Amino acid sequence: MISFNTDFQGTKAASPIPVLQGLHDLTPDELLLSQEHYESEVRSYPRRLPVAIAKAYGALVEDSRGQVYLDCLAGAGTLVLGYNHPEINQALIEQLNAGIPYQTLDITTPAKDHFIRELMAFLPQDFAENAKVQFCGPSGADAVEAAIKLAKQTTGRNTIAAFHGAYHGMTNGTMAMMGNLNTKARRQGLMSDVHFLPFPYDLRCPFGLQGEQGARQGLRYIERMLADDESGVQKPAAIIVEPVQGEGGVIPAPAFWLKELRRITEEHGILLIFDEIQCGIGKTGSNFAFEDAGIQPDILCLSKAVGGGLPMSLLVFNKDIDTWRPGEHTGTFRGNQLAMVSGAKALEIIRRDRLAQQAQVTGDYLRRGLEKIAEKTRCIADVRGKGLMLGVEICDPEGKKNKFGEPLSAPELTVAIQRAALERGLIIEKGGREGSVLRFLPPIIITFEQIDFALKALEEAIDSLVEPKPAVQPLNSIQNSWREHFIHVGKQGADGFEAAMNQSTQALKKIFESTDSPYSGLDPMVLQSQIRRAQLGENPQSLSDVIEETSELIGKNSIIVQHPHCIAHLHTPPMLPAVAAEAFITALNQSMDSWDQASAATFIEQEVTDWLCNRFGFDENADGVFTSGGTQSNLMGLLMARDHIIHTLSGDNVQKDGLPDYADKLRVICSKNSHFTMQKSASLLGLGEHAVVCVDTYSDGTISVEAAEDAISSLKADGLIPFVITGTAGTTDHGAVDDLDDVADLAKKHGMWMHVDAAYGGALKLSRHHARLEGIERADSVTIDFHKMFFQPISCGAVILKDKSHFRYIRHHADYLNREEDVLPNLVDKSIATTRRFDALKVWMTLQNVGPQAMGSMVDHLLNQTQLVADMINHRSHFELLAAPCLSTVLFRFKGNEKGWDLDALNKQIRLDALVQGRAVVGETVVDGKVALKFTLLNPCLSLTDFEQLLTELEALANDIVKQTSL
Ligand SMILES: *Cc1c(COP(=O)(O)O)cnc(C)c1O
Repeated sequence: MISFNTDFQGTKAASPIPVLQGLHDLTPDELLLSQEHYESEVRSYPRRLPVAIAKAYGALVEDSRGQVYLDCLAGAGTLVLGYNHPEINQALIEQLNAGIPYQTLDITTPAKDHFIRELMAFLPQDFAENAKVQFCGPSGADAVEAAIKLAKQTTGRNTIAAFHGAYHGMTNGTMAMMGNLNTKARRQGLMSDVHFLPFPYDLRCPFGLQGEQGARQGLRYIERMLADDESGVQKPAAIIVEPVQGEGGVIPAPAFWLKELRRITEEHGILLIFDEIQCGIGKTGSNFAFEDAGIQPDILCLSKAVGGGLPMSLLVFNKDIDTWRPGEHTGTFRGNQLAMVSGAKALEIIRRDRLAQQAQVTGDYLRRGLEKIAEKTRCIADVRGKGLMLGVEICDPEGKKNKFGEPLSAPELTVAIQRAALERGLIIEKGGREGSVLRFLPPIIITFEQIDFALKALEEAIDSLVEPKPAVQPLNSIQNSWREHFIHVGKQGADGFEAAMNQSTQALKKIFESTDSPYSGLDPMVLQSQIRRAQLGENPQSLSDVIEETSELIGKNSIIVQHPHCIAHLHTPPMLPAVAAEAFITALNQSMDSWDQASAATFIEQEVTDWLCNRFGFDENADGVFTSGGTQSNLMGLLMARDHIIHTLSGDNVQKDGLPDYADKLRVICSKNSHFTMQKSASLLGLGEHAVVCVDTYSDGTISVEAAEDAISSLKADGLIPFVITGTAGTTDHGAVDDLDDVADLAKKHGMWMHVDAAYGGALKLSRHHARLEGIERADSVTIDFHKMFFQPISCGAVILKDKSHFRYIRHHADYLNREEDVLPNLVDKSIATTRRFDALKVWMTLQNVGPQAMGSMVDHLLNQTQLVADMINHRSHFELLAAPCLSTVLFRFKGNEKGWDLDALNKQIRLDALVQGRAVVGETVVDGKVALKFTLLNPCLSLTDFEQLLTELEALANDIVKQTSL
């Protein structure tokens, strides 16, 4: 009878954790010296883990000096149930006593049959159902070699794709697929035709992105390469990947990434090989690391823990690719019977005791502990992994970065920490990029008490080498957690900013790239209820989640102004330089009220307003200020007009004393096509909407001078005071541009203030139609909207005053702002707003990048295209044009081919259906009492074909409506 002593009573390993007196002695003893004498220089582990193991039990080993260690390396993950598991030992003893042969080549035995059945039960069921098993020579590398052969012979191709950071073994074939260049440095002529792809690695993302975005870029790179007929890479027989990279630095592949890789390989007929030699068998919290991706590989390579601690390796693959002929891949020791026994027992125990699930729980515990240590030290750049397979990436404690802005690796410090941990009774491995990752691969039977010991040993090891973080000024931890919500100055201060912006950029990019309609078509009621479901205030989420959700819920259900069928309003696709400017505006958050809140910004706004005044033909007496848009500019124009006229008439100071008693006599003259903000301004200015007198227009929609003259005369005759006349350069519906010289003549003749609302048509000044704005330079105030035909993001407007001294009507002295003795300019004096956005930067960057000439050409193009679209509508029998276009709007309606329809109702319905079904966003207005549809051309990138399609779409919609209802 063979007996086996598993009784550790009376030895130091009787305690579940190592008991230390001081540090362990790591000077080489006789055994180590002997090893050094006899064994080749190729020795590896003993150099960094200089211990001679005398005995071992569970997660503990005892060296030849009697010193006990907690082993979180566990034979590089082979001893998944720890050392000398009593049940495995018992099974081995029983089988040896029963006369089991040590090995049998590939001749079958009851032990082998039992193992295969345990293995099949251990695999995901749907994978096992169609699987074949192939036993290989006992090293993992041999399984990988077999997988490569199988893939090549099955596909008839030679190319293999592996990943940066990969490790698959040390043979000529497997080493060719290895990431690590040091190990490969002296190997010439390894297996040819291997290509390397980017693996998702947050901390050192090859694309400089973080999180999911980086992983998605990697997938895109792979898919793009495979689709590129000039990639230079012949179609691979297989892509081989570790679902959790081990030697590469404990880097888990996200589940969605594996899933996408499965899709891509399937689409291209490439075999997908998962190498779970290290990460398989319960360590990652499930039986196999690939399981939570919900996919299956074509070939699965297993070794290490699958033999329950004894040598074994094998492949499991889909039986459809079983293209082997007898004996094409053999290995003498592929029938290791003892390993079949220990392996079967290990798989049985893991399943029976739900140890994979336990590894998830203990793994979370270990990870949290490691993260706590990371918070306290400056030398940990990352804690990552899956289940109990965890890595801690060590970096330069001074926070130095490499040229890619990533934490600088610290290989020497990593070795030193590994050794200091060993001195404190903890065995951990290291690996990863520049050998700077400490690796935990403990047996999955590790206990919480043992994890506590490991954490303590590691923390002390680090503390012995690296100064802890300065007790982060006694900021309490709550305040500390607020930091992540802000951008900070100094090293790494803007890391969060970078991540948020990158993620947002990627999310938006995805939306733009995948959008094929101007609106998602989601029922408005459903959209509202989804938005209402969002919790405001309770359970704050991570910013990354919020960005993700925003993109899903809000981004995808927005009106997409870039879509060719989004053509309703004065609502432009924004130009890129201005979008970039928005990032500067918001991150720098300058406030335009005073120079000490907006240093460079103050000068920029002044430069841009000077450019604007000059461009519109004003002299140096003029000045302007940025506003939130046409509404605010019009209000300011009329406010200056009111106060100026009152001051001129009676010397009253409205700012100080309020409106004089004759204020109810003041009247505003404009055309009936002018913007409703005339009425709104009059009301806000205390004059009442009735103070606005809208006069008739000519048939082209411009103000009738005669009508205006008549109105002014009769108002005056009634004792009223018409004090301001507004010319509109670009009415909202027709795009009519009043004759501004005529308006100026009238204003001059009657001593009135002249205001021009050029919110829409101001951009004509840059175009070859600039003459249509002649007379604008005679205006006392001018409204310009950059967020219309200047293609700027909302909001962005300006008002120009011909005489800058008129700004005094809104100037108020505030001690904390406009200190009289200041030599530096404070723009608050010119605005009715105090805190104000740095919108001028958008115009500034656009003028620099695109330039006024190109912008003018775009306006020319839009005007020209508008005429062509009007012609197109005239030529389609089912539509009618309702007015000749003046600027860039087209007013028309669907008329169909039958009499008796209620065309007003029909056109209303067309617009609404088009909108909510996400087919087109068109405008609606009333022209001469008829409900009209409206296109506003504000996207210079559209083609006539876009309009053809849009009209066809509207016609189809109209026909649907007619069919369904009896309009
Ligand atoms: C758009 C517009 C306005 C209002 O400007 P906002 O920027 O929307 O505040 C005023 N007048 C005209 C003619 C417009 O087209």
